[in-house]
Amino acid sequence: MYMKTLREVPTEAEIPSHILLLRAGMIRKLVSGVYGFMPLGWKTLRKIEDIVREEMDAAGAQEILMSAVQPAELWEESGRWSAYGPELWRIKDRNGRDFCLGPTHEEIFTDIIRDTVSSYRQLPMNLYQIQTKYRDEARPRFGLMRSREFIMKDAYSFDLDEEGLDVSYRDMYDAYDKIFTRCGLKFRPVEADSGAIGGKGSHEFTALSEVGESEIAYCESCDMAATLEKAECKDATPSPESETLLPMEEVNTPGTKTIEEVAGFLGLPKEKTIKALLFETFDEEGKHANYVAAFVRGDRDLNMTKLVNALDIPEHAIAFANEEEMGKTTGAVGGFTGPTKLHDCIKVVDSELLGLKNMCAGACKEDHHIINVNYGRDYEGDIIANLKVLKEGDPCPICGAPVKHTRGIEVGQVFKLRTKYSEAMGATYKDDNQQEHPIYMGCYGIGVTRTMAAIIEQHHDDHGIIWPISVAPYHAIITLVKPEDEVQKEVSERIYAELQAAGVEVLLDDRDERPGVKFNDADLLGIPIRITVGKLAGEGVVEYKLRRDADKSELPIEQAIEEAIKLVAAEGSGR
Ligand code: ATP
Ligand code: MG
Repeated sequence: MYMKTLREVPTEAEIPSHILLLRAGMIRKLVSGVYGFMPLGWKTLRKIEDIVREEMDAAGAQEILMSAVQPAELWEESGRWSAYGPELWRIKDRNGRDFCLGPTHEEIFTDIIRDTVSSYRQLPMNLYQIQTKYRDEARPRFGLMRSREFIMKDAYSFDLDEEGLDVSYRDMYDAYDKIFTRCGLKFRPVEADSGAIGGKGSHEFTALSEVGESEIAYCESCDMAATLEKAECKDATPSPESETLLPMEEVNTPGTKTIEEVAGFLGLPKEKTIKALLFETFDEEGKHANYVAAFVRGDRDLNMTKLVNALDIPEHAIAFANEEEMGKTTGAVGGFTGPTKLHDCIKVVDSELLGLKNMCAGACKEDHHIINVNYGRDYEGDIIANLKVLKEGDPCPICGAPVKHTRGIEVGQVFKLRTKYSEAMGATYKDDNQQEHPIYMGCYGIGVTRTMAAIIEQHHDDHGIIWPISVAPYHAIITLVKPEDEVQKEVSERIYAELQAAGVEVLLDDRDERPGVKFNDADLLGIPIRITVGKLAGEGVVEYKLRRDADKSELPIEQAIEEAIKLVAAEGSGR
């Protein structure tokens, strides 16, 4: 067995899954965000892949395998060659022709379908692959969690119409439920933004975990659950009809650059203030496009995803503005920017500000604010949109109960693409009247390597990994205490042979090491069943212990074997 465990915590690793995968010798870093899989890691990965494969096949999808290398021309057809940004790993061949290493495969699968599907009789169809993806992430980190090369299962469904897509989407959603359940994950499907992939209607499957990078808002009174990016925060109740619009008045507010400071200085609640957030946007060549000011009520946070969607630009095409630079052409003044005096920039106004009267905002003048600012009378927005983050405690957008937040790891996402790619790339079918229609598409991803890390985040303790049986590299490990003892050796080998014959995947630790070292390694590797063959072997007794339980028992050899076989039969598939 090729295996090398580490006692020390590797310095670059911060989260349990990263630390344990390295310590257990399951993965090996090549360069930042690029990992290789050693025998035990590869075995686990293949178990996860097999679960994915079984459930995809059962849902009627067919497996293919496409290349990671993709020609730029297809990405130009869909418009994503420029829209995708620096995460796209671009390469050139020796003749200077552009390619990328695929971060996802919508263009490729749409291309297959437009070339091969022409009639309604050929649909619906669902194709998938389990394949290596490349994303030149700005900050690769946490080992397999956010890497630059990773394994994804990506599926693409092709339907005649919206109703067909709904069925395909539902089937994939249900398959994902089964897959993540079988992998032993505690997870939650949540409504999601569809991001750079596009389309309308999406769910993320989120494995609940403190180290996760997805923030989720959910409600305990109804079934609302959404990523923070997607979650809708309801507008505040408008000011009463009876409240009269007061005349604007410039007030001296020295040194009050933050909302807290100005509200405190003027003795106003933060709800009576308007916060300005200043941005610069860039065109496809990365050159300055526009300045943007987003306005939300002072106590709110800006939802960047909603701002980017309102502006209809890619996420990477916007950054915080240099306020001084921006000030030269727009009148913005750091800490004192407000909507009334600002000019020559795109003003995006949160929807609730339209109904709120007599607000306080920056005066676009050092150390000054203006009170009694009113939408319509004193300023207008170029774009009105709901821009605010749904914070913990805010009313649920569905039922009004206070919302809660939690964190998780996005292990999968399903999207309704509808006709975004088929229209851009001309993937159509003819109905029985020879009329042409665009094909309705969905796409469905699972981060296979990220799922492996997520499983560890949910299944570990201070000593190591605690694999669910369905994905463990081996079901059982036999720890032979004294390899030089003939009786112990003979008993170990007999158990090994019997378990193997019964379909239990088993390791025999007959290394010439102290028992403590072997126990530590067995715990670190997370093998679910441990059978220890020691002093009592001559009397036909061994120790039986499950990695997930604290207690162990002494059992007759045959009973230990039976217990192991029973457990693997019950939990091996994770169903
Ligand atoms: P994230 O928001 O975490 O960057 P994403 O939404 O961009 O992910 P998708 O395009 O939905 O990712 O890709 C499908 C799945 O691939 C994700 O649900 C995730 O499990 C996995 N994945 C995406 N990026 C990475 C990465 N850098 N490393 C490992 N897995 C990833
Ligand atoms: Mg996603």
